[in-house]
Order: sequence, then structure tokens, then C-alpha cells
Amino acid sequence: MTPKPSQPASVISCKQLYDFLGEYVDGTLAAPQRDEFERHIRVCPSCQAYLDGYRRTIALGRVAYDAPDAAQPAAAPRGILDAVRAAVAKPR
Ligand SMILES: [Zn+2]
Repeated sequence: MTPKPSQPASVISCKQLYDFLGEYVDGTLAAPQRDEFERHIRVCPSCQAYLDGYRRTIALGRVAYDAPDAAQPAAAPRGILDAVRAAVAKPR
């Protein structure tokens, strides 16, 4: 009968956060989930580190992806993210 006082009941778990991560970084995550995501990130250092590492990986992937073919415009983060994700998902 005693509710836990420390956190709101609707905070997502780390696993749910991982599920949202790709969409969050892409900027395609819907607002309610994004709020939950950011609330979790604020209180969970390990997920902060995970998000940081994920973004770093994408940045590295972008550099590698740009290197062989300079046709990609430099200032198109959304499109490049999609391209990187597609390239990573696809076997060469
Ligand atoms: Zn977490």
C-alpha cells in the first residue's frame, strides 16, 4: 500500500530506453516517449554513458562513410544518420 516515493511510476526501464535510442538520436521519437527517455537519461548515469557512446559511434561511422565518397553533403545530419544506419545495417 505504500508507493515508492523516489520516482514517478511512468519512468521507463533501461531496456526500453535502448529500444528508443535509435529513434531518439534520429529525432524521430514521438514527444511522449522522448520525455520519458530524457527523464530516464537524467537519473541514470549508465544510460547517459550508453547514449554518449552511441552518438560517438555514429559520428565515427559518418567519418568512415564520408571518406571513400565525398558526394555526401557535409551539413545534412538527418540524412547522413539515415545513411549511416543503413550502411551499418547492410552487409557490404
Ligand atoms: Zn538506464
